[in-house]
Amino acid sequence: MVTTVPHFAREAAAEVARDTAPPAAAHSVIRRGDLADFRALAERIDVNGPRYTSYPTADRFHTGFGEDAYLAALDDCRAAGAGAPLSLYLHIPFCENICYYCGCNKIITRDHGRSARYVRYLAREMALVAARLGERRPVVQSHWGGGTPTFLDPTEMRQVMAALHRHFDLRPDGEHSIEIDPRRVDDERMALLAELGFNRVSLGVQDFDPEVQAAIHRVQPVEDTRRVVAASRRLGFLSTSMDLIYGLPHQTAARFGATIDRVLEMRPDRLSLYSYAHLPHVFKPQRRIDEAAMPSAGEKLDILVSAIERLTAAGYVYIGMDHFALPDDALARAQREGRLQRNFQGYATHAGHDQLGFGISAIGAVAGRYVQNARTLDEYYGALDAGRLPVLRGHVSDADDRLRKDVIGALMCHGELDTAEVAWRHGIDFDARFAAERAELASLAEQGLVRISDERIDVTPLGRLLVRRVAMVFDRYLRDERAAAAQPGSDRVPDSKSEPASDPVSGPALNPVSDPASQRPAAHPLRRMPPISRSGAAPTARYSRVV
Ligand code: SF4
Repeated sequence: MVTTVPHFAREAAAEVARDTAPPAAAHSVIRRGDLADFRALAERIDVNGPRYTSYPTADRFHTGFGEDAYLAALDDCRAAGAGAPLSLYLHIPFCENICYYCGCNKIITRDHGRSARYVRYLAREMALVAARLGERRPVVQSHWGGGTPTFLDPTEMRQVMAALHRHFDLRPDGEHSIEIDPRRVDDERMALLAELGFNRVSLGVQDFDPEVQAAIHRVQPVEDTRRVVAASRRLGFLSTSMDLIYGLPHQTAARFGATIDRVLEMRPDRLSLYSYAHLPHVFKPQRRIDEAAMPSAGEKLDILVSAIERLTAAGYVYIGMDHFALPDDALARAQREGRLQRNFQGYATHAGHDQLGFGISAIGAVAGRYVQNARTLDEYYGALDAGRLPVLRGHVSDADDRLRKDVIGALMCHGELDTAEVAWRHGIDFDARFAAERAELASLAEQGLVRISDERIDVTPLGRLLVRRVAMVFDRYLRDERAAAAQPGSDRVPDSKSEPASDPVSGPALNPVSDPASQRPAAHPLRRMPPISRSGAAPTARYSRVV
C-alpha cells in the first residue's frame, strides 16, 4: 500500500518542523546571499577537489602495503582491547542492470549464482580478520554498500548476517545501514531488512524525471521510491536517506526542482546531492551518455544553487559537502553538538573507531593504517583460497598525516579550527608548521571563504559551500605534487585530484568505501579552471568536479 500525505498536511507539517526545529549550527545556515556569492565565485575559480572521506585520499594508497602490514594493523587493533568498538563496511558488487553514469566497482549480472559464491568468501574473510582480532568485538556502525546489496537473495542476506554475528557483536543500538535500489525491494524484503537488524536505509534515486532516467538507463518510477520510504517508516527504521545526482543529461534547474519537490513530499531524514562528473575514458558506461544533452557548467551551477535553496527553504540543514538532514536527524544533532565526524561514508556520527572493510575493493581504516581489498573477484577469491587476506594496497599514516587529518576534519565537520588547541595536541608550532598554508588561506580569506584570527580559522557560510577548497590547502600530497610540477624542467601536469572513489559520481553510484578504480580522472571536458592561489598562478589541475 502506498502512503500518501495530503498536500496541505505536508505543508503544515513542514511549518511545524520549521517552527519547532532546533536551531542549526551557525556556520551551517546558508542564506540567499551566500548562494549568490557561491554562484559567482564558482564560475571564476576551480572548486573541484577531494571529498576527504579519508586523509590521505585513497589515490595515495600504494601496493607496498600488503597483507603483513594489515596483519600488523589488526594486531594493534587487538591491543586496543576487546571492548573497543568497531565499524564495518561490506561491499556487495552485483547489479542486474547498468546505470550509465555509474563509476562504482560493480559486476553487472543476472546470474544470482555468482552471489552465492561471493557470500561464502565474505564469510571466509570475516573469519580470518576476526581470528586475528581474537575477541568478538562490538560493532557500533555497519554499512552494506555496492553495487546493489539487495542483489543477494533473502537466504544469502541471512548467511552474511549470520557470519557477521558469529564473528562480531553487532550492537542493537548501533547504526546499521544498507543501500537500497527501490526498484529491487518489495515490502517483504524491507521487513527482512528490519528483522536482520538494519535500522537505516539509503535509497538511490538520482532524478525522477522520466527523460533523465531514460538517458541514464535507470528507469525508476516514483511509486517505487514512495513505497520503500513508506515501508521504512512503517517498519520503524530510524533514518531514511536519498541520493540525488545533478549534472545528468536533460537536467535543468526547473526540471530538477520538480524532482526535489517530489523528494520533499517524502521528506527523507537525510539527502545527498552529488555532482555528476563525466569521465567516459575512465568509466566505460558513461560513453553511452549523450554529452550534447548534458547541462553546461553554468546550468549545472544553477541546478545546484536552486536545489540548495529549495532544500534549505523546506527546513533541511546543510551539513556540508553534498549532505543535508532534517534538524532532528542524528547527523544535524551531531553537527550542532560539535560531534560530527568524517569517514568513508561521508559525514558520520560514529567515527574514530577502527573500520574493517569486507568484500572486493572495500577500504578499511585500522590502527592508523588504511587498507584496500583486491578489486576483482578472481584476485579476491584467489587470496582467500590461499588463506591470505585479499589486500591490494594501503597506507601507514605518519604524524604529519594524523595532524593534517585532524585539521581537515575540523574544517569540514565543524567549520572552525582552534589552532592553539591543534598545536597543543600535536606538539607543534602551528604558525611555523603551516606558514605556507596560512599564506594560501589569506587568499581564501580575501574571497570570503574563511576568517582568520590569531588562534582560529573559521569557515564562513560561503566557505562551507566550497569547503573542499579550504581543506585542500592542508593536503600535503597536493602541495608536494604542485611543488614538483613547478620545478624547472618538470613536464608533469599537477594532478590534484580527489580520491577517485568519492567524486566522479558518488553515493550509490560510486561508493567511497569501495574505491572502484585507481585511475585518476582527468579534467571535465566542460571546464578547466585554475585553483585558487595567493599568487593567482593557475597550473592546470585535474580535479574531480564539484560543479
Ligand atoms: S549506480 Fe548503483 S545500481 Fe547502478 S550500476 Fe552502479 S552500482 Fe549498480
